Amino acid sequence: MTGAIVLQGTESLTQDEAGAVLSRLDALVRWAQAQQAKILHRMETVFRDDLLEDIGREDPGLTFSLAAEEAAAILCLPANTAKMLMSDAGQLCSTHTATLAGLEAGTLSYAHVQTVLDQSQNVPEAELAGFEKDLLAVAAAGQTPSQFRVKARRMREQAYPETISVRHKTAFERRRVCLAPDEDGMSWLSALLPAARAQLIYTQLTTAARGEQAAGDPRRVDELRADILADLLDGGDCGSREGGHAAADDPAAVVAGDDTHENPTMDTKARARTEILVLITAETLFGADEQPAELHSYGHISPETARRLARQAAHWTPVERHPDTEEILRVGRRRKVPAGLQRWLRARDGTCRFPGCRTNAVIAEIDHTKPWSHGGTTDHDNLEHLCRRHHMFKTRGFWKARQHAPGIIEWTSPGGRTYRTDPHLTLATGGLQPAMPPPKGLPALKRVDAGGAGSGPDDYGDTPPPF
Ligand SMILES: [Zn+2]
Repeated sequence: MTGAIVLQGTESLTQDEAGAVLSRLDALVRWAQAQQAKILHRMETVFRDDLLEDIGREDPGLTFSLAAEEAAAILCLPANTAKMLMSDAGQLCSTHTATLAGLEAGTLSYAHVQTVLDQSQNVPEAELAGFEKDLLAVAAAGQTPSQFRVKARRMREQAYPETISVRHKTAFERRRVCLAPDEDGMSWLSALLPAARAQLIYTQLTTAARGEQAAGDPRRVDELRADILADLLDGGDCGSREGGHAAADDPAAVVAGDDTHENPTMDTKARARTEILVLITAETLFGADEQPAELHSYGHISPETARRLARQAAHWTPVERHPDTEEILRVGRRRKVPAGLQRWLRARDGTCRFPGCRTNAVIAEIDHTKPWSHGGTTDHDNLEHLCRRHHMFKTRGFWKARQHAPGIIEWTSPGGRTYRTDPHLTLATGGLQPAMPPPKGLPALKRVDAGGAGSGPDDYGDTPPPF
């Protein structure tokens, strides 16, 4: 790649000139996206060729995944985003070269390109080129991405009505519930459902909410819909549902509990086990100060909320205590990770420790950084959480991990690049002094100041990637 582009004198541009420059810059961005697609496709090809002997024949999907994860680490993108880009790139460089040419020439935006690729799914191969040509003709007629999406979908449904049911079947298999942390003590709980059921549920919630209002409830319909949904699913007793694990980041007060609830609205045979980890200092727990606490895998919550959760925890287990309990963190050559250490690690890691992965530690596996079979110990500074996929990447030797400093994982990608991932909570050693010195031999966990809702995991389900 050679050459240089310079933009000068932006302060003196007239309105006309500014418009012209804006349009040129947009064309430049589109051109760059087209080049990125070519390079991503090249990267996929190189990975496939390099790994052909090893795994390519038996598992072509794995070489694709490895290439996409390498790109994700380079571009600082979530793995699934990089996979989408690489998948797009593969189509643009094979079946959809006319679309790639449009992007490169600047006549199509990337959003238009995605619509072309999406609407081409399930179209018979022999007719793909003709359909692509029709779509591009429509896209060129000055449509915004959303206008074009509607038109393109109609064109596909008219030309290939059989694709409607095939696509719905694929989409139906992706139905799920998502939990996404938001700001200020809130989270989104959303569900991807068949359209009719979603509408039915929403209508029923609305009807119930309006009924409550008619009966004199002062809450807004939005508030009522949310409250009724939560009441229906958690038995209408929010407080007691939130009992469970509680733990503190202060060595004197790290505690955890677990609790088994019976949900009164469900079949009495159905038991829901609730496990919530709360990190709270001893001072805050007992009301001596008002430091925010941390709801594990979410971020900061108010001290009152944390104390309420702590009061409701039915059962408490110390995770980290006085030096006498050192064995929790130091179990040497025992292979199995004791429950107390598992909880401590879950709090420390928060997510899978692979670069960029945000799979919740709750559904991840604990891995010996240096394998147990190679003399690795079952100590906190040789253990880390990995989701199933990234555990496999490491076990099969594609990505290599080392833990020189406790909790800090240094990764080397198949392409030889190195990345470092830090734990969700730092160990309160070195420059970071906790409010109270940690007991001898036991690192206390300390909140990272930059932490909060944004740093928690966002993948709470075992959603298989689309490839
Ligand atoms: Zn992972």
